Amino acid sequence: MEGPDSETIACRVQAVLSAIRQAAEKAGRPAETIRLVAATKTVTVERIRQGLDAGLSILGENRVQEAIPKIRVFEGAPVRWHFIGQLQRRKVRSIIGLFELIHSVDSLELAQEIDRRAAEAGLVQEVLLEVNVGGEATKAGFHPDALEAMVPVMAQLPHLRIKGLMTIPPPTPRAEDARIYFQKLRSLRDTIAARCVSGVVMQELSMGMSNDYRVAIEEGATLVRVGSAIFGARHG
Ligand SMILES: *Cc1c(COP(=O)(O)O)cnc(C)c1O
Repeated sequence: MEGPDSETIACRVQAVLSAIRQAAEKAGRPAETIRLVAATKTVTVERIRQGLDAGLSILGENRVQEAIPKIRVFEGAPVRWHFIGQLQRRKVRSIIGLFELIHSVDSLELAQEIDRRAAEAGLVQEVLLEVNVGGEATKAGFHPDALEAMVPVMAQLPHLRIKGLMTIPPPTPRAEDARIYFQKLRSLRDTIAARCVSGVVMQELSMGMSNDYRVAIEEGATLVRVGSAIFGARHG
């Protein structure tokens, strides 16, 4: 999906934003209900700056030790940071207060640690619950069948606010093949929302990456995480 190297980051940002608007229109959804999270793992500060100048406003980072120095560089800039990678419990303390949204809460233990550290910092951390929609053995996330029972337990944590669900589906050769996984996440979200668990706002669906964000938007994504379609292929 990424353009040739001669294409600038600015042009690619414009192309992705316009593809988001088109997919929204096709799905009969207002484009404002979909936010672009630019996935910036391994992307240099200089290239991130070009992306911000071109209109990016939310950046998603995967690794704590890579994210913290970048966040410092852009202090004061109109940018919000999301954490989208796998988060180790022992790293939670160092990121509390830095990220508007953590997309990747994948266990009760991690939720409890975030709650504890957010309480110490005197804030409420907004999170998404990561779901392993494909039930893959090696992938992080709650098993779809286990999620419904876990939500009321995590909803009790006063310094954690559950805003929705996130998934990384199994790799598929064609974007269209990912549709069933996006539908599954959406239907889980709707099931949980219908149970009206107090304090749980099931509004966000974080799904779709460079190759399949258009399909994800058709299936209800509110946050798409796009990296290589903006910054080019990652090396290393
Ligand atoms: C890298 C990454 C993305 C973006 O992937 P691309 O295929 O480069 O768009 C999205 N989500 C997560 C969790 C990632 O680690």
